[in-house]
Amino acid sequence: MPSEVALDELRLRLREVSDLSAASSVLHWDQTTFMPVGGALSRSRQLALLGRLSHERATDPELGVLLDRLMPYAESLPSDHNDRALIEVAQRDFDLAIRVPAEFSERAAEHMSTTYAAWVKARPCNDFAAVLEPLETMLALSREYCGFFPNSGHLADPLIDAADHGMTVTRIRPVFAELRKGLISLLGQISNSEQVDDGPIRNHFPAAQQAKFSNTVIRALGYDFERGRSDPTAHPFMTRFAHGDVRITTRTNKLFLGEHLFVTIHEAGHALYEQGTRADDDGTPLGGGTSSGMHESQSRLWENIVARSPEFWSYWYPQLQAAFPEQLRNVKLDEFYNAINRVEPSLIRTDADEVTYNLHVMLRFELELDLLEGKLSIADLPSAWHERYLADLGVMAPDDRDGVLQDVHWYAGFIGGAFQGYTLGNIIGAQLFDAALRDTPDIYAQIGLGDYEPLHGWLRKHIYRIGRRRTPDQLIADVTGGPLNAKPLLNRLQAKFST
Ligand code: ZN
Repeated sequence: MPSEVALDELRLRLREVSDLSAASSVLHWDQTTFMPVGGALSRSRQLALLGRLSHERATDPELGVLLDRLMPYAESLPSDHNDRALIEVAQRDFDLAIRVPAEFSERAAEHMSTTYAAWVKARPCNDFAAVLEPLETMLALSREYCGFFPNSGHLADPLIDAADHGMTVTRIRPVFAELRKGLISLLGQISNSEQVDDGPIRNHFPAAQQAKFSNTVIRALGYDFERGRSDPTAHPFMTRFAHGDVRITTRTNKLFLGEHLFVTIHEAGHALYEQGTRADDDGTPLGGGTSSGMHESQSRLWENIVARSPEFWSYWYPQLQAAFPEQLRNVKLDEFYNAINRVEPSLIRTDADEVTYNLHVMLRFELELDLLEGKLSIADLPSAWHERYLADLGVMAPDDRDGVLQDVHWYAGFIGGAFQGYTLGNIIGAQLFDAALRDTPDIYAQIGLGDYEPLHGWLRKHIYRIGRRRTPDQLIADVTGGPLNAKPLLNRLQAKFST
């Protein structure tokens, strides 16, 4: 069969693209963990070279010819055949890569890196004026990117699709609107009841003991340290170099117990997804998470639904007390549980609780759309930001530092496509967990015994091993029988927090 040879060549070419991008990831991981400052200049040059080589391989016209030759073979196969999935996903990646001219990508990357450097200086000085013009150029670049996909419904759809394939403004808007309404009403109820005291987790908690405890926890959840490791960094992330090497990074606050453990579990949730993909998919575009929202569904499911549940802590709390006897000896389980689940409207997205977090995200998503649609100018962005915070969260930052300058996203990437994935993740995570509970009703009882295999095994089978064979929409439909839906998340939060 001639396609056998062509298929081998396809796998070889895809593996080279994958290896080049993994090599970039290793350099990036090193840059953000152990690299001395003196390495910065040569490191950005090395990363730029690898990025260029990887882009050249991914857009090689011969790869396009090969895919054209293989497509009739793919179409002759049943829809769930492995070769068919591989060829179709490779074709989609190729189409996306060739649509955007290399000249544009280089110009955009250059602008992003200079704007990022300007933002690093501007934020501590509360100096929005210093990034105003670069941000206007960023908005123009974002529109230019969208222009390479002229048949999209909404201007922002190509940016959204790049992160969350298949999702569109038309699909997301009504789901977010329903969630926003429900969350604002829930927040109103919570604000009217007695405030929870999080004093018990504000104390001195030595970093080494925090790390030891969180590593014990994520090992129990199923994170495989033989195929991964955890290291400190400023802005935590998960990174995959291969099926056998999926690393996480985390950070520690010695004065607050509610940070390190949950950040670590969050990143471990991303890593469980990657470690749970099929070994034989490694080096192909099938081996990896299917979208940013689906990835976030896994990190948030483990972080919030599992690790902020009473069952989880009925098992772990005695061990946590043993790790921090002086600090926690006189803190009862329910006091600790309430402290880690305290809800309070705040200014900073990354510090937000389960209830208010999505309000932070959704207002950014709406501001992005207003900017792209031309309804809002960059000059008016700071005041629009404050207005939305006041309307949705009832709080207003005293300055731009904790306002519009707070997140790196718009200063280091396109305006659009970067935020919706966080809230999609929370929505999808709740949908998937409900589906897992329907199939395996004793999941919570097992969590209470410190046994995560029933849940982990379910996720491995229904989500992780599928890799990119299914789009986010298809996966949600396969598993839940319905479309994207905010109700499971709202019901879960209402049940947990309304008094
Ligand atoms: Zn995440």
